[in-house]
Amino acid sequence: MWTIDAETIVTGVLGHPVRHSLSPAMHNAAFRALDLNWVYLAFETTPGALPDAIAGVRGLRLRGLNLTIPHKQAVMPLLDGLTDAAQQVGAVNTLFWDGEQLVGDNTDAAGFLHALHERGIEPTGQTVLILGAGGAARAVAYALLQQRCQLIVANRTLERAQQLARAFTATPLAMTPDALKPLLNQLDGVVNCTALGMTPNTDSCPPIEWERLPDTAWACDLVYRPLQTRFLQGASARGLTTIDGLGMLVYQGALAFERWTGVPAPISTMRAVAEQALGV
Ligand code: NAP
Repeated sequence: MWTIDAETIVTGVLGHPVRHSLSPAMHNAAFRALDLNWVYLAFETTPGALPDAIAGVRGLRLRGLNLTIPHKQAVMPLLDGLTDAAQQVGAVNTLFWDGEQLVGDNTDAAGFLHALHERGIEPTGQTVLILGAGGAARAVAYALLQQRCQLIVANRTLERAQQLARAFTATPLAMTPDALKPLLNQLDGVVNCTALGMTPNTDSCPPIEWERLPDTAWACDLVYRPLQTRFLQGASARGLTTIDGLGMLVYQGALAFERWTGVPAPISTMRAVAEQALGV
């Protein structure tokens, strides 16, 4: 039986807004599945309250925290250390204790790679087009660079693509049909890291001419509301392997769970809960 008592270990997520987060449902289901006396809560935290919230994490010695919009960068100077992933991506989504040090990590990058591996994709050395240049694109670029991929980054705002390209040794482009057309036949994979296709703008889609990609290419969309975006529908119709945004969401949570508890996360339980919440 799952009870909360004087021994319960507290974890959670800080965000603003945070009430839409799927993380409490995923983590609490995982704790229940493994009969762990842990709980995961959502803390609505305004930007101005973040320093006090982190002081509270220290004072109460909360065992683990996730950070979501808009705190992923702002939390960095409030910590004692950063993992290489957090430092290189420039964003923190997970806090954990290393002795007396409160350390920031980024599990989005490794979560993305796990999602690819789960679908049988091994991207090492491949040529990959990243669409977008925001926080998610930086995590994907870091993950793929670790796999020695050749990266092309296309973004609506060219200047942001250029910034990302400088940081991750990529080729920058404007995200226009004319700029993308000549390189599509060289790609092994393409990842949508923009907000295009996300509810309520489900008709919007990056400008990819799918027929130009090789038969063996894969397409990944980080958007998970809805799971079947127009982007993935186009790739599917072309016969390409597709990866939706749920895998990364589940694995970034699973990696945080493992960091805190030291035990393997019950992936299928976490996925089932997320699917239920998304109405799949
Ligand atoms: P972000 O930092 O705000 O970046 C948004 C990106 O989308 C920018 O590149 C932006 O281009 C582009 N964009 C937004 N509206 C656009 C439009 N109308 N036309 C063209 N480009 C547009 O956001 P983020 O944190 O990187 O998140 C991006 C997406 O990834 C979101 O849909 C988010 O839900 C998803 N995500 C999923 C996971 C997961 O676990 N599956 C994890 C993280 C994020 P500009 O630079 O030109 O503004």
